[in-house]
Amino acid sequence: MKKSILLLTVITITLMTACKNEKKLKDNPFFAEYSTPFQVPPFDKIDTTDYLPAFTEGIKQHDSEVAAITNNTSEPTFDNTILPFDKSGKMLKRVSKVFFNITESNTNDQLQGIAAKVSPMLSKHNDDISMNSKLFARIKTIYERRKDLKLDAQQIRVVEKYYRDFERQGANLTNDQQDQLRKINEELSGLSLKFGDNLLAETNKNFKLVIDNKADLDGLPEGVISAAAEAADKGGNKGKWVFTLAKPSLIPFLQYAKNRELREKIYRGYFMRGDNGNANDNNSTLTEIVRLRAEKARLLGFENYAAYVIDDNMAKTPSTVDAFLNKLMVASLPVAKAELSEMQKIADSEGGKFKLQSWDWWYYSEKLHKLKYDLDENELKPYFSLENVRNGMFAVAGKLYGITFTKVTNLPIYQKDVETFEVKEADGSHLGILYLDYFPRESKSGGAWCTDFQSAGWENGKKVDPVISMVCNFTPPTGDMPALLNFDETSTLFHEFGHALHGLFSLGQYNRTAGNVPQDYVELPSQVMENWAADPQVLKMYAKHYKTGEVIPDKLIAKIEKSGLFNQGFVTVEYLAASILDLDYHELASPAKVEPETFEKEAMAKAGLIPEILPRYRSTYFAHIFSGGYAAGYYVYIWAAVLDADAFDYFKQSGDIFNPELAAKFRKNCLAESGDDEGMIQYKKFRGQEPSMDPLLKRRGLK
Ligand SMILES: [Zn+2]
Repeated sequence: MKKSILLLTVITITLMTACKNEKKLKDNPFFAEYSTPFQVPPFDKIDTTDYLPAFTEGIKQHDSEVAAITNNTSEPTFDNTILPFDKSGKMLKRVSKVFFNITESNTNDQLQGIAAKVSPMLSKHNDDISMNSKLFARIKTIYERRKDLKLDAQQIRVVEKYYRDFERQGANLTNDQQDQLRKINEELSGLSLKFGDNLLAETNKNFKLVIDNKADLDGLPEGVISAAAEAADKGGNKGKWVFTLAKPSLIPFLQYAKNRELREKIYRGYFMRGDNGNANDNNSTLTEIVRLRAEKARLLGFENYAAYVIDDNMAKTPSTVDAFLNKLMVASLPVAKAELSEMQKIADSEGGKFKLQSWDWWYYSEKLHKLKYDLDENELKPYFSLENVRNGMFAVAGKLYGITFTKVTNLPIYQKDVETFEVKEADGSHLGILYLDYFPRESKSGGAWCTDFQSAGWENGKKVDPVISMVCNFTPPTGDMPALLNFDETSTLFHEFGHALHGLFSLGQYNRTAGNVPQDYVELPSQVMENWAADPQVLKMYAKHYKTGEVIPDKLIAKIEKSGLFNQGFVTVEYLAASILDLDYHELASPAKVEPETFEKEAMAKAGLIPEILPRYRSTYFAHIFSGGYAAGYYVYIWAAVLDADAFDYFKQSGDIFNPELAAKFRKNCLAESGDDEGMIQYKKFRGQEPSMDPLLKRRGLK
C-alpha cells in the first residue's frame, strides 16, 4: 500500500555535534556508493549509529547541490537547473530509503529515537527548498520559456511538474501570504496529530465491553472467548471477558454474539468514537481542520480543498469524482437493500420481532454467508502454501512478461527470514532485485506494503537497476506445517507484487516522473494482479495441496468465485458513503464553517444512504482524511478498481488472460512509462479507450 516518499529538497542543518571521528565517517556505508552485488544496501555493515551522521551529511550535500544551482550566474536552462535539481539529494535518498524501510519493518527503540530527531530535520529541509525563492525564480524562468527551449516532451513534462510542485506549495505567493500558509500548515499538522491521538484514546482506552455472565458469550467461537478472557486477565478483570474496539475483537463479536443488546452496545462504542463530548472529542478538531484547509485552498487560488487535491489526480476535478461516486452509489444501493431484506427474512424466521439495525449487519450477514456459500476457509488453506502462492505469482509474471525469478543467497539482508531474488528479462539480462519479507514480528508495523531501497532510474546515461522490497504480515509456519495462507493473504501477496512489478519495470529518464503516478492511479498496477490470483485458470497453476500436490478441485474454485460476490452491496455502499462524506467536507469554500453532526447527517441523506448502514468511517473517526494523507482522496481505491477491472476484462475479452500483445502494451504504457504523461492518457494508450465501469460492477455483482 505504501510507497516511499520522494524527497525533493535540501537545506543545511548543522546538528552535527562536536567533531566526528574521521575514521568512523569513512567507514559509514552511506557515505559512498554501495560496493555490494547489484548495489543493494550493505545491511551487514550498517550500524544504528551510522544513520544520524549520514542524514546530517546527506542534507548538507543536498544543500550545496542546490546552492550550486542557485549561485550559477548564467541564464537558467534545463541542463544547469532542472537536471541537476532532479538528480540532487542522492546521499540523502540513499540513507532515507534504508532508514525508513527499516523503521517500518525491523525497528527498535533506538531507531525510533533517531526517527524522532530526523523527522523535523527533514521537514524543515523540505520547507526550505520549496520556499527557496532563488531556486523557484530559475525554475519559473525555464517554465515560462519551456516551449522555446528546444526541449523534448519528457523534459517539458519534468519542467511543468517541478513548477507545479513549487506553485502548489506556495512559491508564487507574496511574502505575507507565504507566512499565512506556513501558519496554516503548522496548525494543520498539530490538529491532525491531535485528531489521531484522540482517536487512539477513544479506540483503546475509553471503551471496553466487560462481560461477567458466561451466557452473554453465547454464539462466540472458542478462540474469540479465550482471547477475551486473556484480555480481561491482563487488565485486572480476572475471571471475566473483555472486548475492545480493535477490529480482531469487535468484528467477531458483531458476527457471532447472540446477545443483541451487547452487539448494539459495542457497535455504539465503535461508531460514537470521538463524538462523546469528553476530553477526546474530535468535533471541534475536525471543524477547524475543514476551515483551515478551505482557507489554504483559497490562498493557493483554488475554489476549495478538493479542487486543490484532485487537480493533481487522474480525475482532475471534484465534480468528476462526485458524478463517479454517485453513479456507483446508484448501482450498489439496490444490492445492499436486497442483502438487507434477505437478512431480515432470516431474523423474522427466527422469531425476532424487530427491524434490523446497523449493529445487526455482521451477525445476519454471517448467517447468510453460511446459508448461501458454505465456504470454510480451513478447507482452502492447504492449497495455498506460501511457497506455492509465491511461485504462482512468479509464474504469472513469467507468462505475462517473460521475466524470471532466481533465488539468491549471497546478498546482505536486514533480518534472517528475508528472501532475495534476482529478476531477469526473458533474454537473461538483469532487471532488478526483489526482497521478500513475509511474517509478523514485534519490530514490524502491521499490514503489507511494497517499497524500494533503490528506484529504477538513469545516471550519466547509465541505467540504475531497482532494488524492490515487499513486506507482509502473513500466517507463519508452525511445527512441520508450512505457512498456509488464507485467500485474503493470497490476494495481498499478488497485490504487493503488482506494486513491485511497477517498480521493477519503471523506465523514466527523470526522477521526478519515472514511475511517479497520481494518487488515484497508484493502486492500478497492484489491484490488477489480484484478478490473476483469483482466476480459475491461474488457481489451477499454483493452488496445489501442500502435502499431496493435488490441484485445487473445481468445486472449491466455484466456491471462491461465488463467495467473491458476498455482501458486496454493503461493502461498496459503506465505502462510497465515506468517500462522499470526505468529498463533501472538502468541497466547502472558505470560510467553511461546519457542525459535523448535522453536516454528516445531511450529506448521507443526500447520498441516499439507508439507516441500516453507516459510512465506513463517520466524521469523528475518519482518520484517513483528518489525520492521514487521504483528504479528498478516499475515493482513489475504487477509482483504481474501475481501471483494474477494466484492464483485466480487456485481457479476458481477448480470449487469453496472458495475451502477450496486451501484456506488452500494459507493461510499456501503464507500468514502465506510467509517469511519462497524465494517468488517463497512459491508460488509454494501453486500452485504446476510456475505462468502463461495467467490469467492476459485474465483478461485485452490482450489475
Ligand atoms: Zn496497494
